[in-house]
Amino acid sequence: MAGNWKMYKTPAETRAFFEAFRPLVAAAGHCEIVICPPFPDLAVAVDSARGTSIQVGAQNLYWAKEGAFTGEVSGPMIRAAGATHVIVGHSERRQYFGETDETVLKRTVAALDAGLTPIVCVGELLEHREAGRTEAVLCQQCLHGIHGLDERQFAQIVIAYEPVWAIGTGKTATPEIAADAHAVIRREMGNRYGTGAAADIRILYGGSVKPDNVKSLMAQDDIDGVLVGGASLDAKSFATIVNFPS
Ligand code: PEP
Repeated sequence: MAGNWKMYKTPAETRAFFEAFRPLVAAAGHCEIVICPPFPDLAVAVDSARGTSIQVGAQNLYWAKEGAFTGEVSGPMIRAAGATHVIVGHSERRQYFGETDETVLKRTVAALDAGLTPIVCVGELLEHREAGRTEAVLCQQCLHGIHGLDERQFAQIVIAYEPVWAIGTGKTATPEIAADAHAVIRREMGNRYGTGAAADIRILYGGSVKPDNVKSLMAQDDIDGVLVGGASLDAKSFATIVNFPS
């Protein structure tokens, strides 16, 4: 269960979140919990999560280890800050910052090289869905992005299916729509890496996940977890999502 805070919260707000959140998820042994705050909050988040099973991730990385790349942050830097995960290829990065499937692949490899677990995002735009092109778009994104990984690398990633029309809009994909897309992605992964490896990979659903819809999404066989934006900013609401079985 992963939370993407996007560009929200200061270090002080991060500390306050963890103080409220920690006790609420202390008994959650059924899943991994990852919180991805903005870069300036990573150190505080790592410090606040110490002694718990909560893990911390970044929201992006650059593929070089270091160098003259003003404004960028590398995988080794994120790892050294104590984070374990990093989101790669979020649709907001694709939409506003020129991310492509090719750069998603470079960042994914860089994350793995740094010892981070990449959460690699794919998903279609509304116009793709309306034109009946969802499956084709997902396959393209897999083909040009994730499929560039070798078998060993593939086994270490997490995939997030996030239909762009459902992100931050309050429009959740129905559990059936999400499950269909997850099945397409798993099938594509099976074609490239074999059905065993594809069955083992975790695919998260993201797009307006809330406390009141998480159960029905998680009831789908192919949905292994969720990537939550807005509802992960509030300790109570994200804890309710994490604790969905109870
Ligand atoms: C996200 O940012 O990855 C996301 C799914 O956002 P939201 O839950 O707000 O739709």
